[in-house]
Amino acid sequence: MNQTFSCLIGVLLLIACAEKEKIDMRPDKPNILFIMTDDHAEQAISAYGSNLLQTPNIDRIASEGMLFKNSFVTNSICAPSRATLLTGKFSHLNGLRDNRDEFDGSQVTFPKILQQVGYETAVIGKWHLKTKPTGFDTWKVLLGQGEYYQPTIATDTDTSIVQGYVTKVITDLALDFLEARDTSRPFCLLYHHKAPHRSWMPDVDDLDMYADETIPEPETLFDDYAGRPAAEAADMRIADMFLSGDMKLHPDSYPGKDTNSGGAGRGTSVDREAGWAAMYGRLTPEQKEKWDAHYDPINAEFKKMQPQGEDLVRWKYQRYMKDYLRCVKSVDDHIGRVLKYLDDNGLAENTIVVYTSDQGFYLGEHGWYDKRFIYEESFGMPLIIRYPAAVVANQVSDALVQNLDFAPTFLDYAGASIPTEMQGASMRNILERGSDENWRDALYYHYYEYPHGWHMVKQHYGVRTDRYKLIHFYNDIDHWELYDLENDPQELKNIFNNPEMAAIQADLEKRLTELRTQYGIVAND
Ligand code: CA
Repeated sequence: MNQTFSCLIGVLLLIACAEKEKIDMRPDKPNILFIMTDDHAEQAISAYGSNLLQTPNIDRIASEGMLFKNSFVTNSICAPSRATLLTGKFSHLNGLRDNRDEFDGSQVTFPKILQQVGYETAVIGKWHLKTKPTGFDTWKVLLGQGEYYQPTIATDTDTSIVQGYVTKVITDLALDFLEARDTSRPFCLLYHHKAPHRSWMPDVDDLDMYADETIPEPETLFDDYAGRPAAEAADMRIADMFLSGDMKLHPDSYPGKDTNSGGAGRGTSVDREAGWAAMYGRLTPEQKEKWDAHYDPINAEFKKMQPQGEDLVRWKYQRYMKDYLRCVKSVDDHIGRVLKYLDDNGLAENTIVVYTSDQGFYLGEHGWYDKRFIYEESFGMPLIIRYPAAVVANQVSDALVQNLDFAPTFLDYAGASIPTEMQGASMRNILERGSDENWRDALYYHYYEYPHGWHMVKQHYGVRTDRYKLIHFYNDIDHWELYDLENDPQELKNIFNNPEMAAIQADLEKRLTELRTQYGIVAND
């Protein structure tokens, strides 16, 4: 053996030992910090290429972990998304098809199984499942949608109003949990924000952000919905946003009453001004002083200009986006506090940090706000995962993942067995090897909340592959849409029944039928 060769062997042995050491140092049961926001679109995260704002703390999770650029929801609405991530099952099996349904807390969920294998579990912040949380050693949750200022927090023993801005309040409670936890056990903390959910009330200390800037408009702000009757029928246009609750205008800044539908069905006679007065009324005198200093000049501007038509849509878009982005900025700041806590307490290496939102959201695309549709902006949900002990930094995955996969992934890392009733799959191979040869090549989606509830988005289901999407709108319509996401990423040209697409369409129809069978869908349910 010559000297060079023996040196090489020595180096290889050293590398092998180092690798082995790293593997052996992995905890059996890593901590899990599951950060979720409400309605945070990928378009408002700089790690996803946003041109709207910078989110340095969320970006840090991506640069130190893996960003999923093809992450999707099963049913793009708040409570059903939460039920799916807890149970690993589609809506028709976990019982939450829409926001009216109540969650059956006796179901199998991942926090319950984590408790069984030794985890201390907690949910702090938004819950939104109507029934009391189950499977948590600690729960401190908002009632229903919760409030932005002086939120009411419910626990197992009491309900109380906590002073402050909701994003800070939830973060303080999350840090309190981490500080007081049983350090002899791994923890799983669901740190779930209300923001940036409607009505997008920013922290008064963030109101100066964007004050004199113009937010870029999306290309489809004035979409004509050609070939898309369900899109045309939906009641979620920026044009129809409330002047009161959404735009935060005083009643004397516009003529008459606020008769905008706001998505609650056109022509509704509900007193919008009273609803907004109740939200504003929660601010303290000091908060009102800062609030009014910012919004009074905006009221004066609106009263003077009285914009109409496309000018009004543009004005509303600017108002909507500035408040939405300010809410996101606050979330990002407070996530930074929690990441720093992990750093300062030696927890960064052995804690899986997940950043996601319960679904995507429209930031003016197709002239909309809100979610619900299988179209990309609302079907997509941000997903970023950091786990330094096992996941290489700064990776981007294009795997087709879904909120269905969260529960199996957490259980896999905890060393727990994954119940066969869970319909998702563990993302562990993707996270640790960059890919999984057995991974799915198509996703199923199903939306139910119609004709009751808000926004009048018709029931639909569909399939998405890496390139194509086939959608069926049903109930009081029988309409199909097909999109080529490579040539038409904005989904403006419905090419269903286009002769050139015949073979691809037939294949997608077959895949859709297979997925419906695989996931146990009966008829149109
Ligand atoms: Ca939501």
